[in-house]
Amino acid sequence: MIPKQEIVKLEAALKQEKKRLEKEIKGLGSTDMGSDVDSLEEEADETEEIVNQEAVLLSLKERLKDVKLALDKIGANAYGICEECGNVISLDILRVVPESRLCKDCKAKEEKEEE
Ligand SMILES: [Zn+2]
Repeated sequence: MIPKQEIVKLEAALKQEKKRLEKEIKGLGSTDMGSDVDSLEEEADETEEIVNQEAVLLSLKERLKDVKLALDKIGANAYGICEECGNVISLDILRVVPESRLCKDCKAKEEKEEE
């Protein structure tokens, strides 16, 4: 299992990340797009921008979901366990990506399958 003092640190990082993500999502979601379109060219640009923004928003929401899940797991004392194989996720990974759901091996496998 992950040492308690490490979990405390990671939990703080997750909470901070959650706040940051929520703020970012709120900022993106509330942008009033297309309210000041005065030329067709500009409209095209904005459409592209909206598509990009939606992709960003989606990935932010995915990330937020993982962060929330990680916080739930900390609450349930199940944090740092790989969802795939049940092994402990190494601290090196959790320090970089605290919301990791998979261990190194399973993550590598998953990425390979996605190719
Ligand atoms: Zn695993």
